Amino acid sequence: MNDFGGVDDLYRDFILDHYRHPRNAGTLENPDVTFEDNNPLCGDRIRMDVRIAGDRIEDIRFAGRGCAISQASASLLTEAVKGKTVAEVQQLSDDAVLENLGISISAVRLKCALLGIKVLKSALALKR
Ligand code: ZN
Repeated sequence: MNDFGGVDDLYRDFILDHYRHPRNAGTLENPDVTFEDNNPLCGDRIRMDVRIAGDRIEDIRFAGRGCAISQASASLLTEAVKGKTVAEVQQLSDDAVLENLGISISAVRLKCALLGIKVLKSALALKR
């Protein structure tokens, strides 16, 4: 399935690399929290499993399917948040996530790019 939304020339190689070889892909055996959500506009689906030690994210895995932006963004996110505190991740702004992607995201693709952080924050909210 090729779903590049007509903006392929804007993709940086590392976005495609994350899409083709997602980091921290899979599931955790005994996650402390897990959450799954989808983006009906595009059909993207992402599940995040998180293991929390103290107040830090000790390990994280994601599983999903969908467009390159949604999957690459989730892959990048898992790398960025490992070792961070739950509070730090809860305070991550959408802008920071988009900046981390390093490419300009059109309005129709925002939900794709932000699905990962939405799922992760929802998962972390379960740990209270
Ligand atoms: Zn999408």
